[in-house]
Amino acid sequence: MSGSEVEAAKILAHQSRCPVCGAGVCNGGGGAHFASATFSCGAMFETYSAGVRAIEACPCPSNIAAAALTREAGILPHNTNAQDLTEEGE
Ligand SMILES: [Zn+2]
Repeated sequence: MSGSEVEAAKILAHQSRCPVCGAGVCNGGGGAHFASATFSCGAMFETYSAGVRAIEACPCPSNIAAAALTREAGILPHNTNAQDLTEEGE
């Protein structure tokens, strides 16, 4: 069955990495109709009646944006990777 709450719960329960930045899962699971997952970056997702929603947004894109502005200010070297700024760059 696709497009169902059951499928959304199954998909979220099987995420081993943050779908935004790839950080590892630190807490997750669920039952047939509900799942939630928390990742080491701080992001948290859960299923609800219309699919999957973010409870806590992944902070990594904002950290990368902040680093880009810092780099623009000449404080960080230009060769600093976005990956260096994430907990578990891969
Ligand atoms: Zn993340």
